Amino acid sequence: MKILVINAGSSSLKYQLFDMEHETVLAKGLCERIGLDGHVRQTAPGRPDYDAERPMPDHESAIRVLTELLTAPEIGVLGGMNEISAVGHRVVHGGEAFNGSVLIDEKVLAAVEECVPLAPLHNPPNLVGIAACRAILGDVPQAAVFDTAFHQTMPDKAFIYALPYEYYETMKIRRYGFHGTSHLYVSRRAAELLDRPLEELKLITCHMGNGTSVTAVDGGRSVDTSMGFTPLEGVPMGTRCGSIDPAIIEYLATQHGMEIAEINSAMNKKSGVLGISGVSSDFRDLDAAADGGNRRAQLAIDVFAYDVRKYIGAYAAAMGGCDALIFTAGIGENNARMRARIAAGLDFMGLRLDPARNGARETVISADGSPGQILVIPTNEELVIARDCAALVGSCLR
Ligand code: AMP
Repeated sequence: MKILVINAGSSSLKYQLFDMEHETVLAKGLCERIGLDGHVRQTAPGRPDYDAERPMPDHESAIRVLTELLTAPEIGVLGGMNEISAVGHRVVHGGEAFNGSVLIDEKVLAAVEECVPLAPLHNPPNLVGIAACRAILGDVPQAAVFDTAFHQTMPDKAFIYALPYEYYETMKIRRYGFHGTSHLYVSRRAAELLDRPLEELKLITCHMGNGTSVTAVDGGRSVDTSMGFTPLEGVPMGTRCGSIDPAIIEYLATQHGMEIAEINSAMNKKSGVLGISGVSSDFRDLDAAADGGNRRAQLAIDVFAYDVRKYIGAYAAAMGGCDALIFTAGIGENNARMRARIAAGLDFMGLRLDPARNGARETVISADGSPGQILVIPTNEELVIARDCAALVGSCLR
């Protein structure tokens, strides 16, 4: 069974084509600058890479381009798009309507549409990607896999904000959490690598990339997570401020005449480690600057590590223990110094890093005899989407 996975952003669209028999990637690509001029790159094992400017005025034209590339005689991997059994779409916000992946029909589309006010930057391009696939691929089944779904198992004490309760009832203001597909994937993979049943494990998963979230996973279920109503809450990120005193917003508005839109933009795009350092949102740049003596770059690194460590402590307390700590995503997978910084000081809760193992890619990196384990696991959200999609289509065929 061949599954096409689509992750549509406002001006970009990532795709991967899976052969589910051995869960291999047949091809992957990235369409960028959609709505501007258009650029596409595709790689496929055993085929020449493709990299070219292609006009892409909208997402439908991007889907047409990827259809052409996947079936092109020299660089393509398909005889025709009819070889594809289903398309899986990443959808950022499923609100409270979805606690798992679903096949897309009119009711699902309406429910995703209803979530647009909760994710005004993300859900609209996801919907456009789905519409474009429907227009071009016709009756091929399509599935939606939600970033929020994995966190729907959180108990109400973890997702309710201490605001008037009717804000939740009438305006749906609550913690939703994000990166769910990634937290789910690394949790399952950790159980495999530890050779223990997921149902018995208390895990803390740290997805640390440009966006960062930490999740408490008890018995395979998300019980708390650091991102909230939006992906702005939690630890400071590349350019996002993470949790701050909410009164700062009123103070900036009334005492310093800032508009809400300006404050919102500053909190999302000019804050986080970029805001603290004034150097960059990228931890490679921050490491280089800090090594060169830049004090604010060092401070940004310290604040990030300190906040992630605080969440780890909080979630261990919330679950009454932690069997394993997992690092994933750009920083979690690649930045051994950051892993060491965060893990330093966690001895008290039985987590002891082995510095010699800390350079590894997908394995246990805790020391022999450490009561709790520490792991690095490369995330693979696309594979979860493909698996869910294949399972949904398979259950329809049975
Ligand atoms: P992501 O959003 O998952 O792509 O993660 C982006 C972050 O990962 C940036 O802060 C990068 O500094 C970091 N990152 C990505 N690749 C590497 C690498 N090879 N070495 C160190 N950091 C990396």
